[in-house]
Amino acid sequence: MSPRDLVVIGAGPAGMAAAAKAAKLGLGVAILDEQPQPGGQIYRDVDRVAPLRGDILGADYAHGTTLTEGLRDAGVDHIPGAVVWAIEDGFRISYTKEGRGAQIAADRILLATGALERPMPVPGWTLPGVMTAGAGQILLKQSGVLARDAVLVGSGPLLYLIAAQMVRAGTPPRAMVETQSAHDLMRAARHIGGAMRGWPYFAKGLRMLAEITRARVPRYTGATDIAIEGTDRADAVTFTLKGRAHRLSCRTVFLHHGVVPNTQAARSIGVSHGWDAAQACFVPKVNSWGESDVPGVFIAGDGTGIGGAKAAEIAGEIAALKVAQDAGRIAIEARDRQAARLRAAAAREMAARPFLDRAYPPFAEALAPADATVICRCEEVTAGDIRGYARLGCRGPNQAKAFGRSGMGPCQGRYCGLTVTALLAEANGQSPDATGYFRIRAPLKPVTLGELAAMDEIAQDAAE
Ligand SMILES: Cc1cc2nc3c(=O)[nH]c(=O)nc-3n(C[C@H](O)[C@H](O)[C@H](O)COP(=O)(O)OP(=O)(O)OC[C@H]3O[C@@H](n4cnc5c(N)ncnc54)[C@H](O)[C@@H]3O)c2cc1C
Repeated sequence: MSPRDLVVIGAGPAGMAAAAKAAKLGLGVAILDEQPQPGGQIYRDVDRVAPLRGDILGADYAHGTTLTEGLRDAGVDHIPGAVVWAIEDGFRISYTKEGRGAQIAADRILLATGALERPMPVPGWTLPGVMTAGAGQILLKQSGVLARDAVLVGSGPLLYLIAAQMVRAGTPPRAMVETQSAHDLMRAARHIGGAMRGWPYFAKGLRMLAEITRARVPRYTGATDIAIEGTDRADAVTFTLKGRAHRLSCRTVFLHHGVVPNTQAARSIGVSHGWDAAQACFVPKVNSWGESDVPGVFIAGDGTGIGGAKAAEIAGEIAALKVAQDAGRIAIEARDRQAARLRAAAAREMAARPFLDRAYPPFAEALAPADATVICRCEEVTAGDIRGYARLGCRGPNQAKAFGRSGMGPCQGRYCGLTVTALLAEANGQSPDATGYFRIRAPLKPVTLGELAAMDEIAQDAAE
């Protein structure tokens, strides 16, 4: 198995742009993604879906076809349906494809594993009929499945985008229950200059709000005490607004209060992380080329902090330039010239971010859920359990595993990690950095014994 110059994990905008750029500069590049088609979260299945539902999903979505074309034209070896579950030093990357294990070797790796929706543990969030707004959008993008009379709960630009897409599809949400307050907007006001520099985003946001308003979707902003009622499935969303209790009956609830970097792969190979107070999440420590403190490991896109699809694309290209220069495929002067242009474009893309981060902060109640709320869905651990561990002396998430298995289920902490950190930080009166995060180990994603048993066979096939 001869190593590739570069293996990219994740075929979203960052990964596709990086892979194409590196291949064009003469590197041997492979890109792996668990999805059957390239595109990542925003451009999911774009080649097939853009001609079918492009009008609903918008022009930004259709832009993804330029990236998938770029990937093909550059001669990148795209390995679709490949679920990466281990990365070992050197680098040896293990993945599962079509029920069988396989491995690929690389001199350098670029992690472009994107973002995850921030978990929103409110009472009733585990009931059937409740899902993340992103999951609702995946159903729309990939299968054209639409939720009727869904109530959208939370905050952030993606919530508005999904609401606008539902309006265009002819199934507007029953209502939007929004958690950001007038106070948040006031706090964000001092970043209005940045928002203006990023005016295309601002204009897009206003257009989406106009679409939602024209469709007469009721909007409740500044909601608190949010809960989902139901016994064997969701029946209603309840909340308080200006001291008054509200109840909206519904069968489908889409929750969303922002996205956070997916750091599992980076953590599994020992990349250092730190707490980003502005985005309220952990981010990997990378330099301006996306290079981490583990030699040969680059990270680009939303996996390094949330910046959006265009910023991810640019970050992918910047990382590819450095990888290519390290491999002797581009001179430092040419690299820096190209990077300067890309960095200027990135600054424009990121200009609106400080405004957005402050105007749509995470929902405070979901960061410190009520005791009875389940926070680790895999192992059914409640917020009260975590607070109880803290009273017994538990200081950090890894110790919490020994107390009650939180983070030890199939998702390996992807959906509870930040909540466990937040609860322990609050209970122990220490910072998120001091509290830390789960130590992530392979397998990153579930892998069966049968898949492992089939692995040698594949490696031998590849060698023949
Ligand atoms: C559910 C969801 C929906 C979103 N929808 C939109 C939208 O409609 N519009 C918008 O502007 N922004 C959207 N965003 C934000 C958007 O994801 C980012 O701004 C942008 O896609 C980031 O690009 P990226 O290349 O960094 O990562 P992504 O596009 O997220 O791509 C990461 C890729 O890595 C792959 N991956 C991760 N882990 C593994 C693994 N272990 N093995 C193999 N493959 C792996 C994933 O399958 C994915 O394809 C969405 C985010 C989420 C979480």
